[in-house]
Amino acid sequence: MPVYSHSQLSTYEQCPLKYKLRYRDRIKREVTGIEAFLGSRVHETLRKCYDDAMHGMVNTPMDLLACYNELWEKNWHDEIVITREDMTREDYRALGRAMLGTYHQRYAPFNSDATISTEMKLTFSLTGDDNYRLIGFIDRLSRTRDGIHQIHDYKTSSYLPGQEEIDNDRQLGLYHIGIKERWPDIKKINLIWHYLAFDKELVSHRSDEDISRLVHNTIDLIDEIKAASDFPPRESALCAWCEYSDLCPLRKHLSTAAV
Ligand code: SF4
Repeated sequence: MPVYSHSQLSTYEQCPLKYKLRYRDRIKREVTGIEAFLGSRVHETLRKCYDDAMHGMVNTPMDLLACYNELWEKNWHDEIVITREDMTREDYRALGRAMLGTYHQRYAPFNSDATISTEMKLTFSLTGDDNYRLIGFIDRLSRTRDGIHQIHDYKTSSYLPGQEEIDNDRQLGLYHIGIKERWPDIKKINLIWHYLAFDKELVSHRSDEDISRLVHNTIDLIDEIKAASDFPPRESALCAWCEYSDLCPLRKHLSTAAV
């Protein structure tokens, strides 16, 4: 039975053809947008920061930046794409540095809650059987002194959503389900998004009704994907970052070289 992730479901909603090429045909591409590259390096740096904190070591701002720079250099490759003409590689690198600097200023010594796990793999079922299984990775799971569990998610995008949007966010809602499946006794869960470019923390909760609706909607979407035989391209602003434009009937004329 297939196991779905939030990013698979989102890819299908964004563009069925892209979903098919990436997840059904499994066509691998080395191309990465620099925004995703930057996000990965910031996530890895914060992971190390909290792993160290779990062992009593508090990273200084210089420790964070040294880690980030090392990860940046180690992972950089020629297939990283910069689509914005007004931005350079070093501009993006500086954005990540600034995010980590403000994060450190706000959260050091990183003990406002106790970290349980970083990059925690979660597999769970929406129906208690193998028909609707999901997988996800929680950036950081923690517990407050009051016993509240907190699912943290780091965002490096330049877009800041409103409260209504995060109250309807599927990804952390699904993680809420996964955590409750693993530890049914947990009473309260905070969903927390860290919008690093804005130094902004957004918090949301899910009621039992919210969770029922989410399960229902996600099952409907998985059923639609399972039954799909036609995967039409769906053009949007996100096409600029699509790694399959050379295979896309709507965009291949714009593709300068096969990737
Ligand atoms: S270029 Fe756009 S329309 Fe074409 S496959 Fe990619 S996301 Fe879909």
